Amino acid sequence: MNDEAPMTTAGDAIDEPLERIYADYYQRAAPFLAGAVCRPGCARCCIEVGDVDATTLEGLRIRNFLQSLPRPQRLEIAKALARNRRFKQQPGHVRCPFLQKNDTCRIYPVRPFSCRQVYSLTACAEGGPTVHRQAAALAREAVAALQRLDANGYSGHLSYILELLDDDALRAFYRAGGFDPGRIMRFARPRRLSINRLAVSMD
Ligand code: SF4
Ligand code: SF4
Repeated sequence: MNDEAPMTTAGDAIDEPLERIYADYYQRAAPFLAGAVCRPGCARCCIEVGDVDATTLEGLRIRNFLQSLPRPQRLEIAKALARNRRFKQQPGHVRCPFLQKNDTCRIYPVRPFSCRQVYSLTACAEGGPTVHRQAAALAREAVAALQRLDANGYSGHLSYILELLDDDALRAFYRAGGFDPGRIMRFARPRRLSINRLAVSMD
């Protein structure tokens, strides 16, 4: 893979603790998800969305995945991300930079939880997905667990989180367990990034 071994819990790999939270959500939400009409290639939710949110830890995992791709693909994705960041500064919907021409997700194995929790009981139309209130509550619990897992990190729109992680010095500081929100305030405020340990109870 690459050299971006994460630091979260005593040097554990990133994948395992994230997958544990995702799996717990899937298990608890299974009775609700059973009625979903979602299928590959159905992608309205990847186009008509305000934000595709991720924590920094999820962003680091996605970054690692992107770095394993061939250079031409990496360059193409970098352009799509830059375009997405430009469009995000204007009102309206923005197509996800990871949505491919055939309406499948380029980062599907490592997509963030905000994408994993999306489902609908009816084909999505103007009003967006139809979901159970209980599943939405379970999703909020999973987001809180992800933020607790990433207590030194941040949350927000994925293309901004990836931009943050592109800063070599900041990434090294974060990976070493450093926490100093003042360092990113100027970047984070206009992009509405949250500080995980302030967004959720750490108990
Ligand atoms: S949430 Fe809606 S648009 Fe997205 S896959 Fe499911 S039915 Fe399709
Ligand atoms: S990351 Fe993948 S699943 Fe999530 S919005 Fe983008 S294309 Fe859709």
